[in-house]
Formats: sequence, structure tokens, C-alpha cells
Amino acid sequence: MSRTYDAVVIGAGIVGAACAYELAREGMRTVVIERGKIGAGATAAGMGHIVVMDDSPAQFVLTQYSQSLWHTFSPSLPANVEYDRCGTLWIAADEEEMNEVRRKHHLFISAHIPTDILDSQSLAEAEPNLRQPLLGALLVPSDALLNPVPAATYLIDRAQQLGTEIILGTTVVSAAKGAVRLDDGTAISAACMVHATGTGATSLLPHLPIRKRKGHLVATNHHPGFVRHQVVELGYLKSAHSLDNDSVAFNVQPRRSGRLLIGSSRQFGMEDSAVDPSILDRMLKRASEYMPALSNLPITHVWTGFRAATPDKLPLIGPTEDPTVFLATGHEGLGITTALATARLITDSLLRREPAIPIEPYLPARFATEPAPAQTRIPQETQ
Ligand SMILES: Cc1cc2nc3c(=O)[nH]c(=O)nc-3n(C[C@H](O)[C@H](O)[C@H](O)COP(=O)(O)OP(=O)(O)OC[C@H]3O[C@@H](n4cnc5c(N)ncnc54)[C@H](O)[C@@H]3O)c2cc1C
Repeated sequence: MSRTYDAVVIGAGIVGAACAYELAREGMRTVVIERGKIGAGATAAGMGHIVVMDDSPAQFVLTQYSQSLWHTFSPSLPANVEYDRCGTLWIAADEEEMNEVRRKHHLFISAHIPTDILDSQSLAEAEPNLRQPLLGALLVPSDALLNPVPAATYLIDRAQQLGTEIILGTTVVSAAKGAVRLDDGTAISAACMVHATGTGATSLLPHLPIRKRKGHLVATNHHPGFVRHQVVELGYLKSAHSLDNDSVAFNVQPRRSGRLLIGSSRQFGMEDSAVDPSILDRMLKRASEYMPALSNLPITHVWTGFRAATPDKLPLIGPTEDPTVFLATGHEGLGITTALATARLITDSLLRREPAIPIEPYLPARFATEPAPAQTRIPQETQ
């Protein structure tokens, strides 16, 4: 028997969960279909840094908008989401990186995002476990962090309270022209379907320009106070940061629980989810160059995940040529940050409302008509 909904959300990662919640808030009869468990894809692998990034003007606007939505939503988040406005410290090791600190400072201030430039002494006081001396840093106090799987679970819970159904352990085998078919033979019809399938998007829509980008993360046991901010190096500005090469960058995060997460790596062309000892070694060496005492802390977990990367490093959000199919994928290393904005843009698009920010830079149609824009600067990548 065929079932009918206003909306089907495919995928219960952080993006699908946010879309489900937003659609439910609009009173749409929605079902979420997830082949595994809630948040078990890239979401489970993510660091959970809610960060404003400025690789491109469109990325800057999207991350800023979404971060403001997270801040507004945060008082309702349960304790296990570990939402913490700890701020980001962008670390400069030399004069070239200090120039980047100043560039970012001016840009952020012009967008009314408060930032502070720290000199060497203030940086050492802010993060005593960093190696000394370092030249300085940019402090962005409004950046936050959260634990992604509890966040996705909470969004799904809220959607369910509003009447959304969820089907777990079932794969969508086709979803187009208002008809969804599941691997158990179930047929569902819906006015719209939101593909929030992360790197799985190309299984259902093989033409999408999405590539997997593997990442590694490390967790230590509990060391409250060892690190106070999300600390990220600006050093990769100088390293030849080719989009096709393996890269590592120092990034450490203090979770509310006291655990530290150490990142991160980026690799294209990998299908195997196994931990790569050589990449792990490079990551840990990089981390101990910046924070020598990190090498004394016992590591409790190491894991990998796959980011869904697009050629222009912007997500695919919005309608497609098929009027029933909407995309919410391709968020690469910023899907946790941008999940709430994505959900708003999808809902505004579905309801034909004016969005709070222009949706055009993220529309899937950009790849149907023109090649990806060339990078004008070396991209900054933290996650
Ligand atoms: C190492 C690492 C660190 C990161 N750190 C950060 C960070 O600090 N901040 C940040 O903002 N982002 C970060 N990211 C990126 C972030 O994790 C992702 O962008 C985000 O989780 C993507 O969410 P999603 O819901 O789109 O995808 P996913 O979480 O992958 O969810 C997609 C879901 O769709 C399901 N699915 C796929 N196909 C089907 C199908 N046919 N039928 C049914 N279900 C299907 C999958 O099972 C999966 O659960 C990081 C990523 C990695 C790998």
C-alpha cells in the first residue's frame, strides 16, 4: 500500500534532522527515512565546531546565519549536546599569518562579528599549553561547539513531538517525481522529498558533483581546562594546500565533558574508512608542534568520516529540475555549522518565502549551467 506525506526527508544526519524539525514546525506531514541510525554518517565523525568561515562571501554569509540560528536555539538544547560558546583562536606562527589575522579581523568587524587580536603574551595567557612564543591570534568569541549526534537526535525528537515519523534501518532506493521507493518494497508518495544524504547523495542522483573527502579525528580522555577555546592553526595558508592532496592541520577542541578532540586531516580518493597510520602520525606530530603537552595525553579513540565535497566548496541547497526533489547535501566540513540555515533555506524555498539570506549561491542549478568558480585564495579549512 502506498503512503502519502507532504515531505520525505532522506537521511537523518544533522542536516536531515534539522530539515525534519523545520518542516514539522511548519506543520508539514513529514517522514524521515534513514538507512542506518540517527547521525551515524559524517555527523558522527564531525568535530562539532560551529564556526564562521570566510573562504568565499557565500560561505561567510551562510555560516554566520546558521551560527546565529544555533545561538538562538541553544538555550533549549539538552546538556548532552554540550553546546559551548568557547570561541575560536586562530593561531598565527609568523608575520604572514598575522596578516591573515588582521584581514579576518577587519572582515569580521565589518560584518558586526566581534573579534580581538591577541599578541604573543595575551595568547600565552589565553592558552598556556600552546608552544611559546607564537606571534599572536585572532579570537572569535562567538564561535561555539557541540556534540553532533546528540544534537541530531534532539532535532529528530523535536520533529517527532510535532508528528514527524521516522523509519530507521531502511534504504531509499529511488526518490524522484513525487515517488519514493524503499528497499523493503514500500512505496511512498510525497509533494516533496529532501535528499539530505551526505556522501550517499550520488547513489540516488549519480550526476551530482559530490566527492568523498576523508577525515581523521582523535579523542583523548578527560582533561578539563587543558584547552579553553577551539584552537586552529592558520599555518596551512602557506603549505601547498591543493584540493587534490592529503593535508593535515592542527585543530583542538575542548568538549564540555573534558575530553579533547584533535584534528584533522583531508584526503580525496579514499573509499576505505580504516584509520591511516601515516596520516594519524602526521596529525599528531602537527598537534604536538603547536601544543607539546598533548603528546602526553592518552588517546582513547581514533576515527574517520567522509565529508561530502562539492567543486566550489559550497553546499547544494534547494530545488532541482524535478519540482518534487530538493537537495540538502554537499556541506563538506561545515555541515554541522550550517545545518540550521540549510533547513531554513529548504523550508523557505518549499513554501516560496523570501529567505533571510540569498539562496542563489547554494542552488544546485549552478552546476547545471556553469563550471565551478575558480578559487581566488588558498582555502582555509579547519574541519
Ligand atoms: C573529521 C570531520 C570533522 C568535521 N568537523 C566539523 C566541524 O567541526 N564543524 C562542522 O560544521 N562540520 C564538520 N564536519 C562536517 C560535518 O560532519 C558534515 O558536513 C555533516 O555531518 C553532514 O551532515 P549530513 O546530515 O549532510 O550528512 P550525514 O551525517 O552523512 O548524514 C547523511 C545520512 O543519510 C543517510 N543516507 C544516505 N543515503 C541514504 C539512502 N539512500 N537511504 C536512506 N538513508 C540514506 C546516511 O546513512 C546518513 O546517516 C566534519 C566532518 C569530518 C569528517
